[in-house]
Amino acid sequence: MAELHDLPLRDNLVGKTPYGAPQAAVPVSLNVNENTHPLPEAFIAEATEALAAALRGVNRYPDREFMGLREALAGYLGYGLTPEQVWAANGSNEVLQQILQAFGGPGRTLLSFTPTYSMYPLLADGTDTGWIAVPRAADYTVSPELAVAAITEHQPDIVVLCAPNNPTGTPMSLETVVAAYDAFDGILIVDEAYKEFDSATETAISLLPGRHRLIVSRTMSKAFAFAGVRLGYIAADSAVVDALRLVRLPYHLSGLTQAAATTAVKHSAAMLATVDEIRAERDRLGAHLTSLGYTVHDSGANFVLVGGFVDSGLVFARLREQGILVRDLGIEGHIRITAGTPEETTAVIDAITAFGAAGTV
Ligand SMILES: *Cc1c(COP(=O)(O)O)cnc(C)c1O
Repeated sequence: MAELHDLPLRDNLVGKTPYGAPQAAVPVSLNVNENTHPLPEAFIAEATEALAAALRGVNRYPDREFMGLREALAGYLGYGLTPEQVWAANGSNEVLQQILQAFGGPGRTLLSFTPTYSMYPLLADGTDTGWIAVPRAADYTVSPELAVAAITEHQPDIVVLCAPNNPTGTPMSLETVVAAYDAFDGILIVDEAYKEFDSATETAISLLPGRHRLIVSRTMSKAFAFAGVRLGYIAADSAVVDALRLVRLPYHLSGLTQAAATTAVKHSAAMLATVDEIRAERDRLGAHLTSLGYTVHDSGANFVLVGGFVDSGLVFARLREQGILVRDLGIEGHIRITAGTPEETTAVIDAITAFGAAGTV
């Protein structure tokens, strides 16, 4: 068997490791920010029929432009968006990759504010786009001043703002988005993967009119409880969609994906009915850990970043032994915990309570 270093790999991939959040069948899996609630039965019934109908047509290539789904997504997002302003792919990661293929590449750069989503640098590597990481403030916020200073200094081609931010949960103000947009003439992506959980800030979709370099990214993997289908999407100027059409693979969105996702959007109210409960569980988890002396960072998402552990690797391992999976992201003394069902959340609260107050383990 050959090793990786025996192969003529591209220079910027040498020494890199693939994305790899642990996947394990455990009773309480709270490590990748999925919605852990069951899907509504009325949706399952209708999607089953839609999938059967789609299967009867899989001898043909699917609708390359998936207009039915784009119309449904535009209607769901509102703000007067037309289907021409909406684009989708197999997870928002694929749309982000298409954006980097179209607007990044050799000699160009992507800038973001760290700690942030671990896929951004990997997507940059994969498209040979330079990666510029600018540290967030101590409380993980990005002020308009910080955004403008970093963009002015580095002159990136693309900036991605994760709002709310993964893994810290930090919400982002529209003032920062506007300031970042005005600070350069490149592409600004606002990754709103967790937006449905953040009712306090308005969506950056409201900023789209008159801003043709702004792209707002969404996913069905989180609040929609649809991670297994792989469906992410953007809202942007229709010219941006035309650019992505240059790099997408033909028929990239399967007929089955289109059928399942279109049905899910039709059932969006029921699909999103658990959002309030998840937020309440997030706040219960946060309040409990705060009372034990842990540092719970302000979160607008369905997870919390918790500090105050002595050894996050040990905490991960001890929870894992109890059948509880959380995320150790290499932020010293911190772990990230997804808010699950009341039972799952109680399980992780009980386990950490048994470890003791902050600074014990
Ligand atoms: C989970 C997540 C996504 C979603 O990725 P998909 O490919 O749509 O599953 C995108 N951005 C961030 C910041 C995330 O945490």
